[in-house]
Amino acid sequence: MEPQRTCAACGHQTNEGRRLCDECTKEWARRLAWLLKAGMPALQQIVYKQATTRERSPRHGNAAYASPPVNETAQALFGTVEVHLQLMGGMLNLAPVGHDRYGRARTLKQWSELIRLLLHRLGELAGLETAGDLYADTTRLAEKVDAATTRTAERLLIGVCPDCLNERDEQGKPIRTPIYAAQSSRYAVCPACGAWLDLKRIRLEYLRSAGLMHITRTQADAARWIRDNTGVNVTGKDLANWRSRGKMPSTRRIDRHYWEWNIMELLACAQDRAERDRGDV
Ligand SMILES: [Zn+2]
Ligand SMILES: [Zn+2]
Repeated sequence: MEPQRTCAACGHQTNEGRRLCDECTKEWARRLAWLLKAGMPALQQIVYKQATTRERSPRHGNAAYASPPVNETAQALFGTVEVHLQLMGGMLNLAPVGHDRYGRARTLKQWSELIRLLLHRLGELAGLETAGDLYADTTRLAEKVDAATTRTAERLLIGVCPDCLNERDEQGKPIRTPIYAAQSSRYAVCPACGAWLDLKRIRLEYLRSAGLMHITRTQADAARWIRDNTGVNVTGKDLANWRSRGKMPSTRRIDRHYWEWNIMELLACAQDRAERDRGDV
């Protein structure tokens, strides 16, 4: 009988011939299945959008959009995950097998087919000498894919798409497409025109066009400013509610009619409103 082993990931006892315990093997399967059903398809979408953006660049004549780094990041991550899967396939001798430049066996199958095969042979995978490291790699990569593809409530209204702003709608007005992104994101894709947007640039342009950090407006005009700049339907009453709830600490009253509004607070209000509107649908 084989000696008892402990799980390379969590230290619990493992079944005979395995380097990982049942729990960790189950978790590994969950990660792989998530990559198959959600993670990789979502990542592929992001990589795909790069192509449409590239096509648009010459028309807009904007060199800043020519090589958007976030696309390359998504593409590189996609490739890294696929190689990771191919190397695991190679260790199980899943045909067809090629070799990489380090001489490592690498199954030459596409990621989705490969994940299905790996899920069927997870027991063998968990028996590999390096199972602990492989499982750790899968987890790390799945979390990277998750971070690269998740659309969460953390997304904030950043500004409007400058490319859409150059276009006109049927009434001859500039098209204002609101752009949402996570606070930590550096780039986003316009949902209307597909342009790659440098969010720092958008934020700065936004502030500049609005006279830096504050605008002096009546309550009704501040609400109109938000509607014009974000397309979100905010009313003066919404702003009054926000102030009374202490959500606009940097906004100051100037006289009976005018307020000095903090732009970030106005945008946060619009964000809140947009989320509630979406929630109602
Ligand atoms: Zn374990
Ligand atoms: Zn746009």
